[in-house]
Formats: sequence, C-alpha cells, structure tokens
Amino acid sequence: MTKYRMNTNCVQGTYNPKSGEPRVLPIVQSTTFSYDDPDYVADLFDLKADGSFYTRLGNPTSEAFEGKMNLLEGGVGALAVSSGQSACMFSILNICQAGDHVIASSSIYGGTFNLFDVSLRKLGIDFTFVDPDADKETILACARPNTKVLFGETIANPGMNILDFDKFSSIAKQLDVPFIVDNTLATPYLCRPFEHGADIIVHSTTKYTDGHATSLGGILIDGGSFNWNNGKFPGLTEPDPSYHGLEYVKIFGASAYIVKARTHLLRDYGCAPSPFNAFMFHLGLETLHLRMERHSENALKLAEFLQMHPCVNWVKYPGLKSDPYYELAKKYMPKGVSGILCFGIKGGSSAGKELIKYLDLVHMVVHLGDLRTSILHPASTTHRQLSEQQQIESGVLPEMIRVSVGIEDIDDIIEDFDKALRAVAK
Ligand code: PLP
Repeated sequence: MTKYRMNTNCVQGTYNPKSGEPRVLPIVQSTTFSYDDPDYVADLFDLKADGSFYTRLGNPTSEAFEGKMNLLEGGVGALAVSSGQSACMFSILNICQAGDHVIASSSIYGGTFNLFDVSLRKLGIDFTFVDPDADKETILACARPNTKVLFGETIANPGMNILDFDKFSSIAKQLDVPFIVDNTLATPYLCRPFEHGADIIVHSTTKYTDGHATSLGGILIDGGSFNWNNGKFPGLTEPDPSYHGLEYVKIFGASAYIVKARTHLLRDYGCAPSPFNAFMFHLGLETLHLRMERHSENALKLAEFLQMHPCVNWVKYPGLKSDPYYELAKKYMPKGVSGILCFGIKGGSSAGKELIKYLDLVHMVVHLGDLRTSILHPASTTHRQLSEQQQIESGVLPEMIRVSVGIEDIDDIIEDFDKALRAVAK
C-alpha cells in the first residue's frame, strides 16, 4: 500500500481482504491457533515461518494494527504493546542493561519521566535529563562512554516544547546511539519523525490513535535506520542465550530491533495488547487524518481566543505566531500542531481549579487526545509525583491548565470557556 498517500493509508492501509473475507478487520479473539503440522509449528518457534501461535507473541488483529501504524510512520516493523508506558519501557530495555546510560529530554510526559528516573534507574540504567532547548554542546557534554540512547517527545506533554529534530538527530549521530522519539501527541499525520532522523518511534496509542478514549495501548516502530553493529549493542549482535543463540542483526538485518522487542521482551514481560484493543486502534486510525486536522484547527482558534481574553495571563500553543516554538512547529508540523494547548488563568492555581467547576461542555479527565474537549490541572494530577522543581523542569507551572481540544463545534467550545472564565473572575 505504499503507493497511496497518508489519507488513503489511514482509511485502507494494510488490511486488504481476499474475496469472501470480511471487509472490516475481524477481531481474532483467540489466544491459540490450530495447526496440523508439527514441523510448521517448529518453524514458527524458530522464526522461520510467518503465522500466529500464541497471542502473547502475536495475533492477526494486532498484526493488522501494527502494519497500518508501520505504514503511516514509514518503518520496517512495529510491535503493539498493552500501554504507552510499556512502549517507552520496551524502547529502552530492548537495548540497555544495568550499567548503561540514557540522555532524555526533561520535557517528557510525567509518567515516562518517573519510569526512567525511578523504575529503570532501580534496574541499574542511569539517566541524564537535559533541557531539550539547550544547545548541542551542552547536550553532548552529558554523554558518557556508556550512553546508549537519546530520547525526546515530538510535542512535549504538557510543556508543549517542539523537539528540534535536526539538533537531536545530529547529536545522536555524533554519539552513534539511536534517537528514540515519542510521537504520541503529533501522530504520523502531523509529523513523521523518521523523515527527521529518528531511529525508533513510540506511541501511547491510548491518545489520538484511538481517538475515542476507549482503549489503552502502545506501540514501537522501528525505522530500520540504525547500524547496531557498532560494538555498543551486544544484545542485538551477539547470540541470545534465551532464544537458542539467535543473533538478531545477523538474521534480521534492519528489523533486528523490532524482532528482538517481540521475541525477547514481549515473550518475557508479556505486556501484550488485547486483540479487541488492537481492533479499536485500527478503527481509530481510519479517521486519524480528519480528526487531527480538526483538532489542530479548533485548538488554534481556541488559543487565539484565550490569548485575547482579559482573564487569561498566558497561552502556550506552538501554532500561535507569538509562540517560541512557532518556527519549529512550522518546520516539522506544517499541517497543524495537534489539539493540546496550555494556559495560565489570572488568579493562579486556585482560579484554575475553580474554572473547571464552571465548565459544562468541557469535562475534567485524566486523558488527552479524544474527540471530546477536556481539561486538566497537571500539577495536582498527572505530575503530582514530581517535585515542584521537576515539575517546572518538565514545563508544568502551578497555574497551568492543559486543554485537549476536541472536534466539537469551535463556537460551542469557545462559549463554554468564555462563560467559565468570566464566572471565575467575578
Ligand atoms: N507518552 C506520552 C506522550 C503520554 O502522554 C502518555 C500518557 O499520557 C504516555 C506516553 C503513557 O501512555 P499510557 O497512558 O498509554 O500508558
């Protein structure tokens, strides 16, 4: 299907039924698959034949979703997992072990920050968090001989920094380590990180991929671009004793990373997606192009409205000409900058919490990226495990309100905010 364009690939990519098969991707809600030839099953286990043998390792519905996401991002292979957290965890554990070091942007989702800073650190992997806007030399100065990964988010949640891909990819190349990008907020419709030097992409598919707030999931996509044969990644180049001596790079070449993520990590850790959720993500992708266009359009209009509002102190949205990330956004996301925006209400943190009570159409939820406009106070919710200093470093100010702008009529969204802002100001 590579001959078609993005919008067509969203609607029809990869699932192509033969005569008499269902037009819509079926949900194969089965853990097991029946075979009559033991030699064929042996070949499946030896990764010499294609097919499903147990849903923890692969399932036809999940494979169709993986195929479509891989097509949209332009990779060589994808692995769906049970959450965005597992995708971020796998992206590191697949190539790092105790004694290794990772450089990550400090402006990443609070859950990922905590996963890296606390949980993976406990496994012996060290992290240095850098200001993604720091200059190249400052970031390079954080490197060590054992540095194995450079990690950032396309649009940081919720700091709204836009990643400078050229800077990050040139640092990764200089260090000879893979550049891993969390592309959750942009989605492949707005930004395709492989075209800007990323080697591996991760997503929380719980967000815009699903788009309807129904299912939890994540995915890793391998760009096939990184040369693992540089002496730093023995897990990919030396025999894997847990898979009867399999040498991933030797056997699978450019797909070595994603094959190992499935056969090793998914097999052992078991963070597999349910076939039903994979179906929901595949269905969500069918309208991704339309939704992302409207989310971005509505968010820009709401940002412009809030910017002029007497009860608002500041607005962060990279689609605004006045935003410090406007130029980077235009360069890497010319079609729009997603539906996420942040603002600070006059009256600070307490006014922000009050505002939520006066909104009718807009609900407070611990989520973003679905059809319905929603709101959140990150400092007291998603980022509450971080210290105030860490919150500020990851772009979370005490008075900050994050809005996930939906695809309702923009006039209704604006009226709801206007009414609530005026009620708080009284
Ligand atoms: N990455 C980003 C950018 C996110 O916003 C989130 C969740 O909000 C995650 C990863 C984690 O995803 P999940 O909640 O699906 O585990």
